[in-house]
Amino acid sequence: MKAQLILLGAPGSGKGTQAARLVSDLGYKHISTGDLLRNEIAKESELGKKVQGIMTRGELVDDTTVLELLNANCDLTSGSYIFDGFPRNLDQAKALDLEVIKDVAHKAIYFDIDLDILAERLVNRRTCGDCGEIYNLLFKAPKAKGVCDKCSGTNLNQRKDDNEESVKTRLGVFKSTIDPVLSYYEEKGALKRVKASATSAEVFEEVKNTVK
Ligand code: ADP
Ligand code: ZN
Repeated sequence: MKAQLILLGAPGSGKGTQAARLVSDLGYKHISTGDLLRNEIAKESELGKKVQGIMTRGELVDDTTVLELLNANCDLTSGSYIFDGFPRNLDQAKALDLEVIKDVAHKAIYFDIDLDILAERLVNRRTCGDCGEIYNLLFKAPKAKGVCDKCSGTNLNQRKDDNEESVKTRLGVFKSTIDPVLSYYEEKGALKRVKASATSAEVFEEVKNTVK
């Protein structure tokens, strides 16, 4: 079985885009805690109602809630996963090891990028509501305005938390929590850094080399 992959990186660093390619090219299963939480909001579940405001503001949901959701949605005996958006802090990293990954082989990939360019990237991000393809009006705009290249759907949505104020909060949260997480994986020799400012194809090549 391939090593479990943990993608670490700031909002907008390209984790989601790379995760989609790892799924289609290498057969990984993708688990994004952000997507799981947004699903709960869409379903209008109790959990969704509880986290809606927190997420819109760009703050972190509490560790216990996110860990429970993660545990309920992955089964490591069934294949290799990409963890996207989890862990967000040191407690989550430790919990992921103890409760989910246990002693299965794993690697963490850090998408290293200058945080100053990310705010502009994030407010220009759009996602196809039909097939999930991710666009950016700055450097990966759909060929026809408002129409998905991949599925021709016309629901190119902007995430509620991709507005200037929430983006500022999300980047601030990231800055204040990431260093101990990186040290944690570095100390056990499981961390690989990739330069995430390269083109998405170049980043994918680097990511693939890590996986092999
Ligand atoms: P991004 O990395 O672009 O901010 P995500 O989809 O990973 O997007 O996360 C969106 C939001 O979901 C976060 O701002 C936070 O509110 C919540 N969230 C996602 N993953 C976690 C997590 N591991 N712990 C706490 N909150 C989380
Ligand atoms: Zn689409």
